[in-house]
Amino acid sequence: MGRVYDRVALIGLGLIASSMAHAMREAGLAGHVAGHARTAETRDIAREIGLCDSVHETAAGAVEGADLVVLAVPVGAMGKLAAEIAPHLKPGATVTDVGSVKQAVIEAVGPHIPEDVHFIPGHPLAGTEHSGPRSGFTALFRNRWCLLVPGEAPAEAVARLTALWEGMGAHVETMDAAHHDLVLAVTSHTPHLIAYTMVGVADDLRRVTDSEVIKYSAAGFRDFTRIAASDPTMWRDVFLTNKEATLDILGRFTEELFALQRAIRLGDGDHLHAYFTRTRAIRRGIIEAGQDTDAPDFGRSAAARKGA
Ligand code: NAP
Repeated sequence: MGRVYDRVALIGLGLIASSMAHAMREAGLAGHVAGHARTAETRDIAREIGLCDSVHETAAGAVEGADLVVLAVPVGAMGKLAAEIAPHLKPGATVTDVGSVKQAVIEAVGPHIPEDVHFIPGHPLAGTEHSGPRSGFTALFRNRWCLLVPGEAPAEAVARLTALWEGMGAHVETMDAAHHDLVLAVTSHTPHLIAYTMVGVADDLRRVTDSEVIKYSAAGFRDFTRIAASDPTMWRDVFLTNKEATLDILGRFTEELFALQRAIRLGDGDHLHAYFTRTRAIRRGIIEAGQDTDAPDFGRSAAARKGA
């Protein structure tokens, strides 16, 4: 696939932005990739590893003349950055983001976007527990979904952004923001919270020493620890901004947990067996849909290896 945008600005140079930079450059999707990160340390690393064609001290400097601006910072930081870059956006440009929550981003960023700029929120459903400019890899988005929330944006601008994501190997689907937040509360946000809790519980359990937790952490717990190692700032912002949907799903989760707890107490093996049979079918469906491997590590290490 050839060039989709002449100039792309990446605001934030962490896992997602650095993976985009690698993927865009490999496929020749952008003529020039400009980047900005908050700290001098990250900007220096970006320069050192040649992540972008130009690295800028300010977000405003990075978006100057860009046809596409990608906000790739924690959700809670997007509104302030949008206000900062707004006066510097090129007429006809597209602003998108990669945040894990969509309604809160639209509320925070939307009001700052000038009338002659298109705003198309997005979310690639791809990640690892690693962060920062060195963590990105070309294959991160390959065969993963990217959800776009086009709103009122013109079809031509949506088609172009779709072409970019497809050029990076993703499958693109559009969705409204509220539905996105509910789907992600089920598939990502609540599972992360449960992983954080499980790792916290193990840590609190004084009867199980640290060394035992590490030594005997077979697949299940090890997967929880991997998820629970995800960036604390990013996940704090996800829960603060997708509050309603996460609390809704967490409520349902608690009810199911109580039902299983009751089945265990009553020795109701039929209930447990029927429940686990249903969940096993869901797992098989995910593997058949090509969204994971059979290895019980959420496919993350396999994805990382592919890009290494
Ligand atoms: P990351 O690796 O932690 O990088 C975050 C980047 O944002 C860094 O360059 C950081 O700059 C910058 N930043 C942080 N706080 C900032 C602030 N207050 N103002 C300006 N810049 C700030 O993050 P990531 O994993 O790429 O995540 C970026 C976005 O993608 C988040 O909104 C997240 O919800 C979303 N997302 C993440 C995943 C995932 O699995 N990681 C998956 C899909 C979507 P410094 O390094 O200079 O501090």
